[in-house]
Amino acid sequence: MMEQYLEIKAHHPNALLFYRMGDFYEMFFDDAAAAAEALDIALTKRGKHEGDDIPMCGVPVHAAEGYLLTLIRKGFRVAVCEQLESPAEAKKRGSKSVVRRDVVRLVTPGTLTEDSLLEARRHNYLVAVAQVRDAWALAWADISTGAFQVMSLAQARIGAELARLAPAEVLVTETVDEQVGAVCEDMGVTPTVLGRASFDSTAAEGRICALFGVQTLEAFAQFSRAEVSAMGALVDYLDITQKGKLPLLQPPRQDHASRLLQIDAATRRNLELTHSLQGGRAGSLLSVIDRTVTAAGARLLERRLSSPSRDLGLIRARHDAVDWALQAPAVLREALRKVPDLDRALSRLGLDRGGPRDLTALRNGLDQAEVLAGSLGPDLPDLLGQAGQALRGHENLLALLDQALVAEPPLLVRDGGFVAPGFDAELDEMRQLRDEGRGVIARMQADYVAQTGVQSLKIKHNNVLGYFIETTATHAEKMMSPPLSEVFIHRQTTANQVRFTTVELSEMETRILNAGGRAIEIEKRIFEELRQAVLAVAPALSQTALALAEFDLALALADLARGQDWCRPRVDDSRAFDIQGGRHPVVEAALAKQGVPFIANDCALNGDGDAAAIQLLTGPNMAGKSTFLRQNALIAVLAQMGSFVPAKAAHIGVVSQIFSRVGASDDLARGRSTFMVEMVETAAILNQADSHALVILDEIGRGTATWDGLSIAWATLEHLHDVNRVRGLFATHYHELTQLAGKLPGVGNSTVAVREWEGDVIFLHEVRPGAADRSYGVQVAQLAGLPQAVIARARTVLDALEKGDRDRTSPKALIDDLPLFAAAPPPVASPARAKPSEVEARLDDLHPDEMTPREALQALYDLKALK
Ligand code: ADP
Repeated sequence: MMEQYLEIKAHHPNALLFYRMGDFYEMFFDDAAAAAEALDIALTKRGKHEGDDIPMCGVPVHAAEGYLLTLIRKGFRVAVCEQLESPAEAKKRGSKSVVRRDVVRLVTPGTLTEDSLLEARRHNYLVAVAQVRDAWALAWADISTGAFQVMSLAQARIGAELARLAPAEVLVTETVDEQVGAVCEDMGVTPTVLGRASFDSTAAEGRICALFGVQTLEAFAQFSRAEVSAMGALVDYLDITQKGKLPLLQPPRQDHASRLLQIDAATRRNLELTHSLQGGRAGSLLSVIDRTVTAAGARLLERRLSSPSRDLGLIRARHDAVDWALQAPAVLREALRKVPDLDRALSRLGLDRGGPRDLTALRNGLDQAEVLAGSLGPDLPDLLGQAGQALRGHENLLALLDQALVAEPPLLVRDGGFVAPGFDAELDEMRQLRDEGRGVIARMQADYVAQTGVQSLKIKHNNVLGYFIETTATHAEKMMSPPLSEVFIHRQTTANQVRFTTVELSEMETRILNAGGRAIEIEKRIFEELRQAVLAVAPALSQTALALAEFDLALALADLARGQDWCRPRVDDSRAFDIQGGRHPVVEAALAKQGVPFIANDCALNGDGDAAAIQLLTGPNMAGKSTFLRQNALIAVLAQMGSFVPAKAAHIGVVSQIFSRVGASDDLARGRSTFMVEMVETAAILNQADSHALVILDEIGRGTATWDGLSIAWATLEHLHDVNRVRGLFATHYHELTQLAGKLPGVGNSTVAVREWEGDVIFLHEVRPGAADRSYGVQVAQLAGLPQAVIARARTVLDALEKGDRDRTSPKALIDDLPLFAAAPPPVASPARAKPSEVEARLDDLHPDEMTPREALQALYDLKALK
């Protein structure tokens, strides 16, 4: 057996091998050690290999899914090795034969299909990144729903698109592109490296054609070599992991980056569209707008929100759908609430991993699809009209499933009991025989009680003995002596009981067993027939599932719009961006929990012709600048994904790209300082933004010395105005910048209003035209709880500086004038201004913002060494 184990393991060096032994999956050697630690289960030993103990651990088969989930989450891949014959069959081949085993499936994060391993409301994408010479492409699939798409793109956009898809697993060739590596790291995904052969585009073409049973890929679209390579690698990987059983993929759909609103990875993170900065769904825009009632609807919403469109026709069609849904009858959502996850049921049936409940999921879903179709009025908007068509046409399958299945079937095919009575005559007969047998046994028990006079005699059943007669030890004597012993044959004696059988009972048992076994066989056959009937119309079923999701989404967005008082945005091909009474849905929801109202604000960035339109926003910290900036970006995203928007009115000329640099965050993991990250991201914006872009910049230049920062912010603003000609919002602390409003025609000033009251600031959160007169930093510091002494001292310094500024005194003279250390306790001895020590001199030379964490650590060691 160990020989067999080692041979199979040799084929799967990068995966834990779950080696099936009876009711357990066992792991050995290093796999056992790793799994025992990851799963927190006992590590034991079994036998010896080359003189050493073999470490072993195991998990019961019936509980394996839970353990698999833990292992996958912890980054393992698992090869599931099953027994391909029974021990009895093995014996037939020879007394020493080991049961034949082989790996039937490789479980990896991107190839899951079990509900318990997947998040119902999220996609689970497997992405392949391919490069053929200078051309790049991504192909992605969710085998749990059958979605399969491909896109060509510039190398520079790979990171952005990967961030959009948020894949569970990424397939790459031996050389991992730097961007791909970085995005994977951000998402906590380890890229899976495949050999060059998997990406070979010539072989790939054959592989994909074979999968879809077509002669040429042109049947679907004109694909580039890089696209074919990416799709081929993906299909090859599915073949490897599913061991030849290919999932039901829909024909590949070609996407075009130019049809989508482009959002780069940093912007996506900052805007917290589908994940919050902490990483989870909570706190994201998705979490506050999701009112879908089906899992597929939730996934569609996530897809739309991650990929807002630039296609005016499509955007308007989606708004039309929401408009219609606002008037739709409530029965529609009631029907949708009862719709199970058709996509995932279908995918499991396709991979032959399904059970009776997947069939009933289809039946119940199709049933509701009919209810829905019957409740739709005559005048549906285009998008839903098409979806409405796809709801119908499954009458035959539905009738078949309805007749064939019971209402609430058991989980597993092998338990039987899911086929409805009346569906198959032979099955009914076998079940009757089996059940009658049980009745006969009950009668036999009564007979035996009468015959023996033993009142406590029982006929019982277990898996070892089958049916047997049981009495307590006290009555056994009587039954083991004539005449009763002629009828009752002794089988077993336990501590308190003695067990018997009779010829009659054995015969009855055989009949029951045969009938029961035959019944299960018939049910298995019927399951397979039903499965085939489903698979025969799988593409149409996918369309129905998508149609249900489309209705769910439209109704959910309508519910949101009604409940939150959102409006339909006017979207056209102008360069307008005119929001009246806009709100930030996530901040508003958080404030609502505390009973605090959100203050709505207007935003007008209307580009004249192709000129820039930029608002400079000043105001103290905590006034609401970031909130205002983000809310306008979110409104654009929501409008273009096809939703209504949180505003009184909105007019938006289609936005091509959204860029946002909001807040400064260190990227220590990659050894870049805050300032460096900020500059890299700003460079990307200046190099890429076109005149239909919407740019949101928050406090750019803050990470460096004042004059440097101001100069960079100044030059950036000019470039965005003159060269990129964007619509944009630019929040800044540098009041000097507000002078640009007078100089550049497309730049205006606004400020978030505050009121001063008895030395405190009150935040009004109102955005008004004009520039802030001061920054109220000291007041905000006071609100934050800085010690009174520090606040008082800061006020003195500020007064002196402001006075000096007015009088044009040089800062140095000012500082010399300020009484030193007024807030500090008097020094014990007053040291004369000594020459700086060596440590101080070194400290003066250090510039933390320009150092990598490594350099900082080294500097610390150097300083310590000077002591
Ligand atoms: P800034 O960027 O100016 O420092 P933020 O945008 O982070 O300020 O806002 C600070 C806090 O003010 C938010 O967390 C929120 O609680 C509150 N706030 C911001 N905008 C509004 C608004 N329009 N209405 C009500 N409260 C707001």
